Amino acid sequence: MKRREFLAAGVAAAALAMTNVEVKAEVTDSTYDGKSADKQQSARLCLGSQLGIIPGGSMEEKLAKMKAWGMEAVELGGNVANLDEAKKIKQQIADAGLIPSAVCWGSHNGDLMSFDKERKQKGTDDLKKVLEGAGIVGCTGVIYVPAFNGQSPLTNQEMRKMLLDDFPALADFAAECGTTIIFEPLNRGEAYFLRQVADGAAIARDINELSSKKCGMTVMGDFYHMSIEETDMMGAFISGGKLLSHVHLAGGVSDPRRTIPGQNKSRFVEGFRGLKYIGYTGPCSFECGVRGDREVEIPKALAFLKKEYELAVI
Ligand code: MG
Repeated sequence: MKRREFLAAGVAAAALAMTNVEVKAEVTDSTYDGKSADKQQSARLCLGSQLGIIPGGSMEEKLAKMKAWGMEAVELGGNVANLDEAKKIKQQIADAGLIPSAVCWGSHNGDLMSFDKERKQKGTDDLKKVLEGAGIVGCTGVIYVPAFNGQSPLTNQEMRKMLLDDFPALADFAAECGTTIIFEPLNRGEAYFLRQVADGAAIARDINELSSKKCGMTVMGDFYHMSIEETDMMGAFISGGKLLSHVHLAGGVSDPRRTIPGQNKSRFVEGFRGLKYIGYTGPCSFECGVRGDREVEIPKALAFLKKEYELAVI
């Protein structure tokens, strides 16, 4: 076979292979990233945190500390699946003058990415419970990881297909609860499937396309994981575009690894440029360790981030 014939045969084979892959959505113009001059002007830095690193002996004390330090948004845990607890938490956050952000949920041991029907059903039921609680509190979404390394027997291709088969209904359930399911891309040391913001956004887009409400799936970016997997922090957030609903703040791999911003050499200006470019107004939340006295180091980190945001000129 001559080279030209070989290439033609290759193109035909590739086209045939594509027909076996369900493609429902495509990028057709440059507006997909949600860019608009008005949106860029409305971009703002909304700082918040998970509760674990905040000093305090009770939820009330932690919330009061966050408010006093000028934080706005509280990231919660899976205990909102208890609906009575969810109502209580909603009130506590309102009383403190704060707003809820996301619920950090995780992979549920990879159960939703399983061929075992019983295992999958248990994971699905529990995800629905936490979505219901998140809706009651008014959370932006429930952070979901399909599977950490070793938790699922599925290949990358099988996992993507399972998400597209199962998640349109779950995305609609989330939307009915008034919240979303948020994909969190992780670095390869933790998960080989779903490692970059653009990939998470593409799968979220495809699930939304297959759902009725078209809005139940979103994506987030975690500065720590992104520092390992992305080639460009600004570009990564831009590719999340209108689907970006949450951000985790942490330094990258330099010593001390995954620490509170400002304590290692990681900078945030390029990432913040991306957030400004897409007009992001959602929460940016600490998920990191802290070296030293938290009473001193957390306010220092907040001041550092505000400066980094100012430097992020677009
Ligand atoms: Mg994270």
